[in-house]
Amino acid sequence: MADNHVPYVAGRYRDGLRSDHWTDVRRCAEATFTAYTARCSCGWVGPDRAADDKGYRRTSRDGQRHQTDHTTRSPGLPLPALFLAPQVEVVSPH
Ligand SMILES: [Zn+2]
Repeated sequence: MADNHVPYVAGRYRDGLRSDHWTDVRRCAEATFTAYTARCSCGWVGPDRAADDKGYRRTSRDGQRHQTDHTTRSPGLPLPALFLAPQVEVVSPH
């Protein structure tokens, strides 16, 4: 199964619970949440941010950065085995 990273912005309710990914935190009433937190379908949870527009943008970036980190392959993977290919006869023009 492939890694699946679908980040979203969760709001932390006043009782400490966090909203799920079905909740559009921007549509909730002001002061519904005490913080925004980036979360991911893989279970990752980012740092708490302020529950305002600026915090929402920072939280979105937290999630995007997490997604990028986990879906981009790090350099250093083996290249295609060009040098291991069997030698082929080169037809010389002369
Ligand atoms: Zn993830």
